Amino acid sequence: MRFSDETLRDIMARFRREMENGLGRDINPTATVKMLPTFVRSIPDGSGDQPFVCNLNCLHLVHTHYFLQLFDHVAECLGDFMEKQKIKDKKLPMGFTFSFPCAHSKLDEAVLLTWTKRFKASGVEGMDVVKLLNKAIKKRGDYDADIMAVVNDTVGTMMTCGFDDQRCEVGIIIGTGTNACYMEELRHIDMVEGDEGRMCINTEWGAFGDDGTLEDIRTEFDREIDRGSLNPGKQLFEKMVSGMYMGELVRLILVKMAKEGLLFEGRITPELLTKGKFDTKHVSAIEKYARRLHKTVRRLVPESDVRFLLSESGSGKGAAMVTAWASRLADQTRQIAETLAQFRLTKEQLLEVKKRMRTEIQNGLSKNTQSTATVKMLPTYVRSTPDGTENGDFLALDLGGTNFRVLLVKIRSGKKRTVEMHNKIYAIPIEVMQGTGEELFDHIVYCISDFLDYMGMKNARLPLGFTFSFPCRQTSLDAGMLVTWTKGFKATDCEGEDVVGLLREAIKRREEFDLDVVAIVNDTVGTMMTCAYEEPTCEVGLIAGTGSNACYMEEIRNIETVDGVDGRMCVNMEWGAFGDNGCLDDIRTQYDNAVDDLSLNAGKQKYEKMCSGMYLGEIVRNILTDLTKRGFLFRGQISETLKTRGIFETKFLSQIESDRLALLQVRSILQHLGLDSTCDDSIIVKEVCGAVSRRAAQICGAGMAAVVDKIRENRGLDHLDITVGVDGTLYKLHPHFSRIMHQTVKELAPKCNVNFLLSEDGSGKGAALITAVGCRLRQ
Ligand code: ADP
Ligand code: MG
Repeated sequence: MRFSDETLRDIMARFRREMENGLGRDINPTATVKMLPTFVRSIPDGSGDQPFVCNLNCLHLVHTHYFLQLFDHVAECLGDFMEKQKIKDKKLPMGFTFSFPCAHSKLDEAVLLTWTKRFKASGVEGMDVVKLLNKAIKKRGDYDADIMAVVNDTVGTMMTCGFDDQRCEVGIIIGTGTNACYMEELRHIDMVEGDEGRMCINTEWGAFGDDGTLEDIRTEFDREIDRGSLNPGKQLFEKMVSGMYMGELVRLILVKMAKEGLLFEGRITPELLTKGKFDTKHVSAIEKYARRLHKTVRRLVPESDVRFLLSESGSGKGAAMVTAWASRLADQTRQIAETLAQFRLTKEQLLEVKKRMRTEIQNGLSKNTQSTATVKMLPTYVRSTPDGTENGDFLALDLGGTNFRVLLVKIRSGKKRTVEMHNKIYAIPIEVMQGTGEELFDHIVYCISDFLDYMGMKNARLPLGFTFSFPCRQTSLDAGMLVTWTKGFKATDCEGEDVVGLLREAIKRREEFDLDVVAIVNDTVGTMMTCAYEEPTCEVGLIAGTGSNACYMEEIRNIETVDGVDGRMCVNMEWGAFGDNGCLDDIRTQYDNAVDDLSLNAGKQKYEKMCSGMYLGEIVRNILTDLTKRGFLFRGQISETLKTRGIFETKFLSQIESDRLALLQVRSILQHLGLDSTCDDSIIVKEVCGAVSRRAAQICGAGMAAVVDKIRENRGLDHLDITVGVDGTLYKLHPHFSRIMHQTVKELAPKCNVNFLLSEDGSGKGAALITAVGCRLRQ
């Protein structure tokens, strides 16, 4: 029974192997030392609230008994305790010291893997003990408790000592049973996501040796003890170490020695033969236990300076500390959830958005309200979708998106309809975007000139369609007055001017070539036309890109600003301005206000600012800044990066929200952005992104539901089948936007069957198609 240091080192190495085994992914069923994550992530730092002292002290009562209705009993004890403390009417945060091997997926969920020591209550293994206790408490109904943490006694011990000495990062129990826990690096714990910081691991080392690892050092006495135990074959290490078995071990040895005549002159008393007669407390050597333990540890790991601290009521106090910490964390989680709840709209709220959109649509269409309407409902003079007879070569300009482009579009009619496109992208420097109108249009014409050179067709005098994705009040297909700049544009002397006129003048100024400007086209209309070319039921266009807008075929009789009663005309809704009269203020948040305040066009395009690519990232940044200020993120540190407007582009939302991405990748995206984040931060950031983009998709869907229901009612139908042509990178690339938007439309407009069709280059191809239709009508 005496081990040389060599043997002890060998046992150390075996134990180390078992630890590695236990740390592997999933709770390794063959690992004996289970290495269970506890979700306790830090040693108490003494700051913050005083720990709540409301613990299951009464659990001691049941330690020595078997209880089928174990949890009913615990609940009863707890009730008695609260009664005595006169706290029965309070719902206090509570810690639950439960010193058995449990699989945690969070602090307040603990599935009992197996009973140990003297416990054996049936129906508990494999169950979440928090659920069981909650159920038992609920069944009584005379008090309420908020179980926030389940803590192993080893963890409680470590936490209690850690409260006095921050360097305490290991806990050991040597009592009835034996067990240990310690702070492990998170990156070594495969079962738990995250790679930085530490988490306390409950080793459950009592089971060391259960796979036979310790056979060479186990004696006949150890085997005999095991055979007579409640759990033969299990907890073999514990049975060699802990108090529950020590006395019995001594007794067995004494019996053997007596039998061999080495002791008591060979006389064996009935007492000596009685199991359990020899209590551990009678083992004289036990007094030296602690000293021997310390000495052995120090001898075996001379390179470490190990100090031992005796814990005082570790399982109670420690659990209270963990609970206090958990309660702080829960409070933080609740506050974050409350913040994000502002972005969660109920179906009623969405129906309300739909209804308000419908009202604004009506205001935009009616003669007496039209001049002050926020949703302008601008007539486009596009009266029909393409019929396939369009033919010819056309130039198209695309201004108002991320890129300015010049295109040549060759449309061929006949049996095999084809559209061939050539285009070149040009940059518009910000000083031109926000300079004078003349500079802007001179630059545009310069780009056309370059493109015509590039294509070798300076002298062709081609018909041109001008995709100009800003609100224009049109009086014909080729005349449109800019109502107001949106998105990033702000060139002077353009608002209130006819944009086609400005273009024609610039062409004249250049005196180099001539063009026939046939149509001014909004990108929504171009998108609708492009899709309608393939799919005749497409009578709605939607953009979800830098900005947000829609158009649809409205009955001319409803468009009071256009003469005539027959037929339909496409209306460019300019729905981005929805809400500019304050009608969305009840769902807008402080973050929406902040984004609006700092934008180029404060107070305008309020709906667009809630649902388009140019603003979503900025909303997220504002929320993150606020959460950081409140100490919930980035360790409360507001970095220069976080202060930088526009740093959080909407494409990052797409990346972060991608389902295929692990948290580590989210973190690396954030770190790339210069946001030094932990894995916990990354979880929160992902939630924030999700809340913002979900709301965007939902209110966009609510607007679309208003549109399709209006079309259905226009036509006096109980049921409408319709196709919406869609363009925009947000719609195309965000992992959830389109799905949530579709679903919202379906829920809010159940009488419409809406099919969404992706447009391919709506603003180029669509402009050419409209120009072709315009040319045909002119002839
Ligand atoms: P535009 O609307 O300017 O014609 P797009 O439809 O390509 O052009 O939209 C560009 C906008 O889409 C960008 O301003 C950005 O806000 C957003 N965006 C870019 N990449 C992504 C992405 N991966 N996921 C979501 N949105 C994106
Ligand atoms: Mg576009």
